[in-house]
Amino acid sequence: MSVTQLMENARSVYAARFGVAPVWLAVAPGRVNLIGEHTDYNGGFVFPMAIERYTVIAAGPRRDASGKALLYSEIFDESGEFSLAEKDAPSAEVSWRSYVGGTVACALEKGLRPEPFQGAILSDVPLGGGLSSSASLEVAVATLVEAASGRTIDPVEKALLCQKAEHEYAFMPCGIMDQFISAMGEEGHAMLLDCRSLRRQSVPLDNPDVVVLVINSNVKHTLSGSEYPQRRSDCARAAQILGVELLRDADTAALEGARSRIAAEPDGERIYRRARHFLTEEERTARFADALRRGDYPAAGREMYDGHRSLKEDYEVTCPETDLLIDLAARLGLENGVYGARMTGGGFGGSTVTLADREKAPAAAQRISAQYEEQTGIKPSWFVTRPAAGAHLIEE
Ligand code: ADP
Ligand code: MG
Repeated sequence: MSVTQLMENARSVYAARFGVAPVWLAVAPGRVNLIGEHTDYNGGFVFPMAIERYTVIAAGPRRDASGKALLYSEIFDESGEFSLAEKDAPSAEVSWRSYVGGTVACALEKGLRPEPFQGAILSDVPLGGGLSSSASLEVAVATLVEAASGRTIDPVEKALLCQKAEHEYAFMPCGIMDQFISAMGEEGHAMLLDCRSLRRQSVPLDNPDVVVLVINSNVKHTLSGSEYPQRRSDCARAAQILGVELLRDADTAALEGARSRIAAEPDGERIYRRARHFLTEEERTARFADALRRGDYPAAGREMYDGHRSLKEDYEVTCPETDLLIDLAARLGLENGVYGARMTGGGFGGSTVTLADREKAPAAAQRISAQYEEQTGIKPSWFVTRPAAGAHLIEE
């Protein structure tokens, strides 16, 4: 669906529910991470871009005595009311209202004073599909609260308040990437984000002949729950052995210098490989950014393949299905318009991201899908996107 169509649908749903036309449309995109995976908790770099999939809230002032905000979610076909005079407390049971209510509450805490408002939330970001529908919802709500308050806040503050809402109201200890890119993405650009300093750079990915293909393996392997914490503690242990606060402060030369010391530790071989993923990923991310700046897409693509291999062999967060998607993409190769591919997100299933030629991408996606389905019996889903703009408000 195009964003124009989604906005038109949001206007109609709003008008049908509230009997008037909306005065605001708050729009915020989902995202995909191009490279820089499992790096944020080590203080490293991530490299997301906003995608052409959005949460849209059609809204207007609420003129009754409640003094509250009223929002309707089309996907859940449910409404929720949210206090504006004081912060709602988090509810132990997490639902879509937690994301909305948390964002409203954290916006109040930041000093925004919205007039009562009502709205209808629509979205074409798949929920729970690893494209951050949650951040796009939070950032859309924050954008709407700004509109109803008659003022905007610094977009970094806005992203941070949305992250806080996700931490405190959805109990999800997420990093900062999703809210940053949804709030501050730039059309035709990806965002090189330093997760430690929060400094960011817009890097052009604006060649009209280059697109990003997102393929969902439609597999999510059940985890024991220890996979992510164990990798985090392996990285923390490596940092400790290297004598740095965060692995970010080390480099591959320091790691190689300490290799025998690390190997002597319990689980030393594994700790070494975990650290090697992070430190080489930092280097790949920097090279990937340089390649994009030069418009050298084959070079950028090679960093993606290498990144996938590192996630597979050193970090061990891929799975046979995402590995297969990458192999199939690599087999098509440059002559079929594929520059490079890697898994994206936390791993153990989920989606892959492929840099591809615009004209050849749909045929490549169809061939990858057909072969993937043949070999796994699972139908993948895919779409093509270019880097989209971050959150914005349309006043009707
Ligand atoms: P992801 O962010 O990867 O899509 P999450 O589990 O973090 O997955 O967030 C998904 C949750 O966000 C949904 O279960 C729902 O509670 C909320 N959400 C996202 N989009 C919407 C929407 N359009 N309407 C209501 N709730 C939404
Ligand atoms: Mg999320």
